[in-house]
Amino acid sequence: MMAQFLEIKEQYPHALLFYRMGDFYEMFFDDATAASAALDIALTKRGKHLGEDIPMCGVPVHAAENYLLTLIRKGFRVAVCEQMEDPAEAKKRGGKSVVHRDVVRLVTPGTLTEDSLLEARRHNFLAAYASVRDEAALAWVDISTGSFHVMPLATVKLGPELARLSPSELLVSDADEAALRPLVEDFAIALTPLSRGSYDSTNATKRLTDLFRVGTLDSFGQFTRAEVSAMGALVDYLDITQKGKLPLLRPPLREAADNSVQIDAATRRNLEITHALGGGRTGSLLSSIDRTVTAVGARLLERRISSPSRHLATITDRLDAVDFAADQTRLSETLRAALRRVPDLDRALSRLALERGGPRDLAAIRNALEQAEAISQTLTGTDLPELLSGAAADLTGHDDLLALLDSALIAEPPLLARDGGFIARGYDAELDEVRTLRDEGRGIIAQMQQQYAEQTGIPALKIKHNNVLGYFIEVTSTHAEKMLKPPHSDAFKHRQTTANQVRFTTPDLSDIETRILNAAGQAQAIEVRLFAALRDAILNDAPALTQLSRALAEFDLTTSLADLSRAEDWTRPLVDTSRALDITGGRHPVVEQALRRQGHPFIANDCNLSADAEAAAIWLLTGPNMAGKSTFLRQNALIALLAQMGSHVPATRAHIGLVSQIFSRVGASDDLARGRSTFMVEMVETAAILNQADDRALVILDEIGRGTATYDGLSIAWATLEHLHGVNRSRALFATHYHEMTDLAKRLAGVENATVAVREYEGDVIFLHEVRMGAADRSYGVQVAKLAGLPDSVVARARDVLASLEDTARSGKNPKAVIDDLPLFAAAPPAPKPAEKIPPGYRHVTDMLSDIHPDELSPRDALDLLYKLKEAS
Ligand code: ADP
Repeated sequence: MMAQFLEIKEQYPHALLFYRMGDFYEMFFDDATAASAALDIALTKRGKHLGEDIPMCGVPVHAAENYLLTLIRKGFRVAVCEQMEDPAEAKKRGGKSVVHRDVVRLVTPGTLTEDSLLEARRHNFLAAYASVRDEAALAWVDISTGSFHVMPLATVKLGPELARLSPSELLVSDADEAALRPLVEDFAIALTPLSRGSYDSTNATKRLTDLFRVGTLDSFGQFTRAEVSAMGALVDYLDITQKGKLPLLRPPLREAADNSVQIDAATRRNLEITHALGGGRTGSLLSSIDRTVTAVGARLLERRISSPSRHLATITDRLDAVDFAADQTRLSETLRAALRRVPDLDRALSRLALERGGPRDLAAIRNALEQAEAISQTLTGTDLPELLSGAAADLTGHDDLLALLDSALIAEPPLLARDGGFIARGYDAELDEVRTLRDEGRGIIAQMQQQYAEQTGIPALKIKHNNVLGYFIEVTSTHAEKMLKPPHSDAFKHRQTTANQVRFTTPDLSDIETRILNAAGQAQAIEVRLFAALRDAILNDAPALTQLSRALAEFDLTTSLADLSRAEDWTRPLVDTSRALDITGGRHPVVEQALRRQGHPFIANDCNLSADAEAAAIWLLTGPNMAGKSTFLRQNALIALLAQMGSHVPATRAHIGLVSQIFSRVGASDDLARGRSTFMVEMVETAAILNQADDRALVILDEIGRGTATYDGLSIAWATLEHLHGVNRSRALFATHYHEMTDLAKRLAGVENATVAVREYEGDVIFLHEVRMGAADRSYGVQVAKLAGLPDSVVARARDVLASLEDTARSGKNPKAVIDDLPLFAAAPPAPKPAEKIPPGYRHVTDMLSDIHPDELSPRDALDLLYKLKEAS
């Protein structure tokens, strides 16, 4: 057996081998050590290899999914090795024959299909990067839903695309591995190198044409060699991991690089589009707008929000659909009620295709078809906008399949086909017959029990069943003696004595047992056969079913966005090809919801960066910390993003000229985790913007330059803004605490000053969160520090220093001189008390205290002294 293990293990050096032994998956050697640590299970040993103990650990087969999940999350890959024959057959071969075993599946982060291993509302992408001479390409699939995409790519664009898709696993050729590893590690994606053979574009073409049963790939579009190579690598890897059972892939869709708004990784993080800065989904834009009621709808929303469109026609179609749904409240609600009952069609289909499905997946298809039918009927006679009428057409045409599944399946089938009991009565005559035999058998046994009880005169006699003995007659020990004597001992054969019971059998009972067993076995075999036939019927319809699933997702997303718009009071944006960005009464969707939960209102603000008109294209925003600058900056980017994904927006009015790229940077954000100087990161990221932003970009810079000394920072911020204005000519919002920069508004035509208003009241600052034109009068840093709870003495001292510095600045003196003149803060002792209140001979009240002898004081003296001390303090 060890020889067999080692032989199989040799083929999977990078995976843990789950080696099936009866009811357990066992692991040996280093696999066992690693897995026992990762799963926190006992490490034992079994036998010896080359004179050493073999470490071993195991997990029960019935609980294996949970262990798999932990291992995959911890970055392992797992090769599942099954017994390919009944152990009895190996025994028949005689001698030392070992049960034949083989790996049936290699489980990796990108190739999961089980519901328990996947997040229902998220895609799980497996991506492949390929480079052929000077071309590169990225292909990706979600094998749990069958979606398959490819795009040409410049190597520098790999980062942004990985950020957009966030695949869980990336395939690269071993030649590219070293170069790409640092980039991929930044994204916490599992990197899997493949041999060059997997990437060969000639092999790839054959693999793809075979898979899709077409003569040439041209039927799906014109692909570059790099694209074919990337797609081929994916298919090859699926072949390796699924051991030849290919998932149900849709034909590849070619995505043009300029289809969607370009948003790089830093911007995605910073705008918290799908993940909050903390890493989780809560607090992200996605979670605050997600009102979808199906898993397919949730995944479509995630795709849309990760890739807002740049095509006016697409955006307009989507907006028309949302408008329609927002108007037709009643219809929308009916649709959403039906959609709530729609199961995850895509994932059920893919499990069926990979032969991992069960009766519940059949039922999922039936239930989805039922709801699609109901939705389609609700819609008859309604004049739908284009996007929805296209989707509605995909909902129908499955009457036969629905009728078949409806008649074949019971309402709530069990999980596994081999358990049987999922086919409805009346569907298959042969099955009904053997089931009747089986059930009658059970009835006969009940009669036998009664008959034997009468015959023996033991009313408590029972016929029972267990897995070891099968059916048996049982009496308590008190009656046993009677049974063991003639005449009963002739009829009842003793089988077993336990502590309190004695068990018997009769030839009649064995006979009926055999009949029941045969019937049950036949019923099971028939059900397994019927399951396969139903599965095939579904898979025959697979392409139309995936269309239907997309259509349901579209209805879900549209009605959910309409629901959001009504509930949150959003409006339809005007999107066109101008270079406008004119927002009235804009709000930050996530901050607004958070403030509402705390019972605070959100102050809406306008923003006008329309570049064509007279108005400025860049706003320079000044104002104290905590005034709401970052919130304002981000809300305008999010509104543009929402508009281009085809959603209503949180504003009273919004006019968005198509945006091609969104960039967002925050000065010196903490990036210690990646071990780079924060200032260096800030500069690298700023450089990326200045090198890439075009005149359709929307750029958001929050306190760029703050990571270095004042004059350096100011100079960098100054030059950056000039470049954005003159060279990139982008629409931009620029928040800064360098007041000197407000001068730029006078010098550059497209630049205007704006500020977030605050009011000062008795030395405190009150945030109004209102954005107004003009520069901030001052920075209120000291007041904000006071709000933050800095000790009063420090705040008072800071006020003094600030006043001296401001005085000096006004009189044109060198501030350095003032600083040199300031006495050291830490050295300043607490101010002494005015001397006259302290009795002569004392310097301080504490001196008075040390002279007091409480034992010698009368209560009256003590009280007098207290008054004196109080006066002196
Ligand atoms: P800054 O970037 O100027 O330091 P932030 O944008 O981080 O300020 O905002 C600070 C806090 O002020 C936010 O956490 C939010 O609670 C509140 N805030 C910001 N903008 C608004 C607004 N428009 N209306 C109400 N509260 C706001």
